[in-house]
Amino acid sequence: MSNFHLDIVTPDKPFFSDEVEMVIVRGIDGDLAILKGRAPITTPLRIGKVRVFQDGKERIAAISDGYVSVVDDKVTIITESAEWPDEIDTERAKAAKERAEDRLKNRRDNIDIHRAELALHRAINRLEVSQIKKFD
Ligand code: ATP
Repeated sequence: MSNFHLDIVTPDKPFFSDEVEMVIVRGIDGDLAILKGRAPITTPLRIGKVRVFQDGKERIAAISDGYVSVVDDKVTIITESAEWPDEIDTERAKAAKERAEDRLKNRRDNIDIHRAELALHRAINRLEVSQIKKFD
């Protein structure tokens, strides 16, 4: 399979920059599998998983929402956060999940429901991705 260049960039750091065979991201209209030669596109991404295929192997990272753009066989994912399974602090994610669930359950005054839902979604996504290493 032909390779193309993939960059995954977060505000903290360049998370990933290398040649890959395929990347699958979760766009707003569903999964988007990107191969070499794909037509240009820029589209928003959901909180979810990025599946990176390289040397016949697949790696999965958790990402927050962001954008993917494909231009001239260069694919760039810009996201608020990205972590590989072994970078995820599961206790932190569990605590974030409980905090968000508590906020949604109690719905106190001035609560930002949408913000709590996004925090819950990020935490659940991190917990799912953190499990992936156990099956390698
Ligand atoms: P928390 O409430 O625990 O901060 P959050 O979802 O609000 O969770 P983000 O704003 O998405 O956190 O991320 C802030 C930074 O912290 C990013 O660099 C992200 O990669 C990192 N991060 C957040 N949660 C975890 C985690 N469970 N394990 C490792 N890194 C994390």
